[in-house]
Amino acid sequence: MSRISRRIGAISESATLAVDAKAKALKAAGRPVIGFGAGEPDFPTPEYIVQAAVEAARDPKNHRYSPAAGLPELREAIAAKTMRDSGYAIEASQVLVTNGGKQAVYNTFATLLDPGDEVIIPAPYWTTYPEAVQLAGGAPVTIFAGPEQGYKVTVEQLDSVRTERTKVLLFVSPSNPTGAVYTPDEVAAIGRWAVEHGIWVVTDEIYEHLTYGEAKFSSIATLVPELEDRVVILNGVAKTYAMTGWRVGWMVGPQDVIKAATNLQSHATSNVANVSQRAALAAVAGPLDAVEEMKVAFNRRRLAIVEGLNAIEGLHCPTPEGAFYAYSDVRGLLGKEIRGVVSNTSAELAAVILEQAEVAVVPGEAFGPSGYIRMSYALGDADLAEGVARMQRLLGEAR
Ligand code: PMP
Repeated sequence: MSRISRRIGAISESATLAVDAKAKALKAAGRPVIGFGAGEPDFPTPEYIVQAAVEAARDPKNHRYSPAAGLPELREAIAAKTMRDSGYAIEASQVLVTNGGKQAVYNTFATLLDPGDEVIIPAPYWTTYPEAVQLAGGAPVTIFAGPEQGYKVTVEQLDSVRTERTKVLLFVSPSNPTGAVYTPDEVAAIGRWAVEHGIWVVTDEIYEHLTYGEAKFSSIATLVPELEDRVVILNGVAKTYAMTGWRVGWMVGPQDVIKAATNLQSHATSNVANVSQRAALAAVAGPLDAVEEMKVAFNRRRLAIVEGLNAIEGLHCPTPEGAFYAYSDVRGLLGKEIRGVVSNTSAELAAVILEQAEVAVVPGEAFGPSGYIRMSYALGDADLAEGVARMQRLLGEAR
């Protein structure tokens, strides 16, 4: 018998967190590291949301257990918000409030998958999806969409990996890690393909409000109403309201799925912290002004980072249209020598960038194939400019 179960032993360390840990260790040792690794807004949570939490903490009714599925007021507000932002009509009973979007991902796959069920995950993908699928006994099936197609998967590609065991398609737009945003036509085509083959769609809408320029978020659940019985929406307050640390997310789905997932959660974690739920209630029931303000800053940084990165020979960064990530193709820099070191993978290149330029980026290996780096532009303008300038100097030495 092994000490650690095979199921848990097979989980790999989050590569994004590993980069972050290494960058923090260098910083602690006094090195002026600039971090492009973190997937979180650098703004504080808006004051009226914090105020709601302060008041909630003083009210003894929030000091007790509450329903595992979430506070009834919050589930109502999420149903109303889903109508407002996605145009999708649901009942409050179709909402399960979770410990962040991450637990919604975990709950969803645990609830939908039997051993051997396949989940199609377009790559580059957010690191947590394949792990959550595997934990649930499912089999992740990835299909890569590269920069020449704007990191957006096509129906033909999806169909090329469909088998009799395909149960679910994981869909995310705007995307982490690429910032890609699918057009309404693309979303609808993918949704119709899923309906045609009886495939469930799990759609992660956590970056719905972070789109730039002409790009607009559109919900697959709304564009393809025939999916109704087979669609689960994942969302949360983390990105829209700068609330990553509060840990409130949710899943929306058919009644039977939500009921089953609630049973799971009732044994795993019970209710999400009431104070956090009260803060989330103030957020989702309130205005979207704060995210509009953050968007102005993110958009400025988006344009600055793309321009700065594309000035580097051997690196190509398509302009992302959503979220707060820039995903660069660095294959042109592999096999070249930089300060005596030849990097053959993006993981090796990221290590050189950290060591020599004191800039932390996440290598593509964390999200699928090697040859790419992800940089979050949710950091201050001055740090962003300095970090990109350091990369320009270092990578300009590649021979
Ligand atoms: N989905 C995506 C695509 C994400 O990038 C994240 C955060 N990195 C989440 C879900 C979950 O966020 P949280 O657990 O902080 O709510």
